[in-house]
Order: sequence, then C-alpha cells, then structure tokens
Amino acid sequence: MNIKVLLLLFVLMPEDSMGSLKTYRKKRRFDKTTEPAGRKEKKTAAKKNEGTFVIQQHAARAMHYDVRLEIGGVLVSWAVPKGPSLNPAIKRLAVMTEDHPKEYANFEGIIPEGQYGAGPVIIWDRGTYKNIRDEPMKTCLKEGRVEVLLKGKKVQGGYAFIRTAPVTEEKSRWLLIKMRDDYADARRNPVASAPESVKTGTTIQDLKKKMKKNEK
Ligand code: MN
Repeated sequence: MNIKVLLLLFVLMPEDSMGSLKTYRKKRRFDKTTEPAGRKEKKTAAKKNEGTFVIQQHAARAMHYDVRLEIGGVLVSWAVPKGPSLNPAIKRLAVMTEDHPKEYANFEGIIPEGQYGAGPVIIWDRGTYKNIRDEPMKTCLKEGRVEVLLKGKKVQGGYAFIRTAPVTEEKSRWLLIKMRDDYADARRNPVASAPESVKTGTTIQDLKKKMKKNEK
C-alpha cells in the first residue's frame, strides 16, 4: 500500500476511532514506564458538556505543555510548546497528540530514559471545563473549533482551540487563544511566574535534579 492510500484511510476513519487509546498504548511499554495504561474507555460520557482538564508540563526532547480535556471518557490532548497565554492577542501553537486515558490527569513523575516521551512531567494546572458552544464537544472537535471555560488554579476563563491544518486523524495543528473576558490579563504570565505543580508543589527543575542524582 502506498503512503497516499494510507493517508486517505486515516482521513476516512470512522468517528468511532476518535477516543481510542490504541495509539497511546502502542507507543508505551507499561512494564517500563509508570504512566497509566488506562482502563477500557467508557463511551457513556460522550454527551457530557463538561469534565476535567489538566495541563502537564513535560520536559521531553523539547519542553512543552500538554493541555488535555476529558471528552467521551478519554483525555483529548494538545502539545503546546509555549504553554497557555492569558493575553488574547497571543496565539499559541497547539499540536493535537494521541488521546490519553482519564487516569493520566493524575500522572506526575519521570518517564524513564529510552521510553516514549522520556523526561519529567508535572501537573502544572488542573480543574474543570465547560463547553461554551451549543454543539457537543465531539462535533466541536470535528469542526476544528473548541471553545471552553476553564476553571483551574492558574488558568481561568474562556479559551478557544482553532484547527488550522489537519494532518491525520490524530495529529493536526491548532491555535490556542485566550478569549476576551474578565480573566484575560496581558501582564500576567503564570508559565513563567508559577512553575510549580498544583499537586505537589514540585517543579520540572526539581525533578531534573532528582534524575541527575539517580544517575550517580
Ligand atoms: Mn508531552
């Protein structure tokens, strides 16, 4: 099969394939990493218009922030290299990555050397989200326009995810933009001013030091 046919198959994949953890599991070895394998996903939550969100700072080959929204029983995920901004004038690149299991929202620790995404992960922010649009979240994803109200500790208010270029079913380029509301603030930048985990207070730098100690 040539690559064009393969890409076409990806594009034509039924909607059912959304929310699958197959890709997530294929990329990881759960006897080597402490990341959760995830239970069999429940499709029951698909119609819910709210859920948990988490932003994990992840120092892999390149530093980034994984922004995840619980949709249809899994965490739909974007990798945002620069993290979220509170300034509505700033558009942040967000690359959609594979769905993660719900349990991942609680994951903080070190992905071992040689494993997929090796490096430290902290729970930089988390809380709940609400869908602002009238359409269900799955429709919003399909249309490439997701608008949510975030209620976290560092990040609050409306955020829009706008798809700019589809690549495959799992990977596409989006922009993450702060919507104009009372929580918009061009002067504050929690990515720089509040680096600590909301779960444990630890920072990526702390975990990096721990990794170096373990090497010795
Ligand atoms: Mn990541």
